[in-house]
Amino acid sequence: MSDRVALVTGGSRGIGRAAALVLARSGLRVAVNYKERADDAKETLRLIEDAGGEGICVAGDVTNEASVAAMFGEIHDSLGPIGVLVNNAGVRRDGLSLNMPDDAWHEVLATSLTGAFMCSRLALKDMLAARWGRIINVGSAAGLRGSAGQANYAAAKAGLTGLTKSMAREVASRGITVNVVAPGLVDTEMTLSLNERQRDALLQNIPAGRAARPEEIAELVGYLSSEAASYVNGAVLVIDGGMAA
Ligand code: NDP
Repeated sequence: MSDRVALVTGGSRGIGRAAALVLARSGLRVAVNYKERADDAKETLRLIEDAGGEGICVAGDVTNEASVAAMFGEIHDSLGPIGVLVNNAGVRRDGLSLNMPDDAWHEVLATSLTGAFMCSRLALKDMLAARWGRIINVGSAAGLRGSAGQANYAAAKAGLTGLTKSMAREVASRGITVNVVAPGLVDTEMTLSLNERQRDALLQNIPAGRAARPEEIAELVGYLSSEAASYVNGAVLVIDGGMAA
């Protein structure tokens, strides 16, 4: 077991759960963050422990600065400073721009973009002190090419690219990497609400002919968190079954 600690935001299910497991299997102790679904986070932790890993569950709303600060305090007290941060928490609130309510815009930006910024800002303190760190931001293909009905989501994910590239330039000389993983369609609760027509339209554009499993995205997160990825920095790694080819 390494003495390094990882925080996965939104680790209670989907891609976050799979990423938490990959990181735990690589020997990191993992803080599994969730917003509401404590039982799901406990299930992630159970899977980690079954695999011989260690971790904790930690509640925290990444859109709320006080909540993020409290979460980091709890992780420091229980596990120690953070070496790997996976900014994975995200929500969808789709609708055409013309009719999009302000709160749908703000919630999506606050979760994926501002939340990632606030968590990274705190994690960087630990990483700079250790002169080592890995920040992995979970973006989306929507952030690269836009997505009708998802102006808020695509803007948040595109914003993550600017955040990532800027932060990477700021801290690269200190042994810290900051990268984006940009998945296409992944089978999780987030995409369960797509209707058949929406799903078929997406699948038609995916040469692989299927959605990804969360575990396939998690493997890339695992690679970026590793020593082997020490020279990958400020990159946007697309993982979409060939959709952008
Ligand atoms: P899910 O909807 O399955 O899970 C979302 C996770 O985010 C949950 O753990 C949820 O916690 C957490 N969360 C939501 N809001 C907050 C908040 N304010 N603070 C802390 N945690 C929060 O999503 P996916 O696994 O599909 O998505 C994970 C990431 O991957 C997201 O950033 C998403 O945008 C991105 N992505 C997903 C794709 C897909 O096709 N599924 C494609 C491309 C990118 P709780 O369980 O407590 O509610």
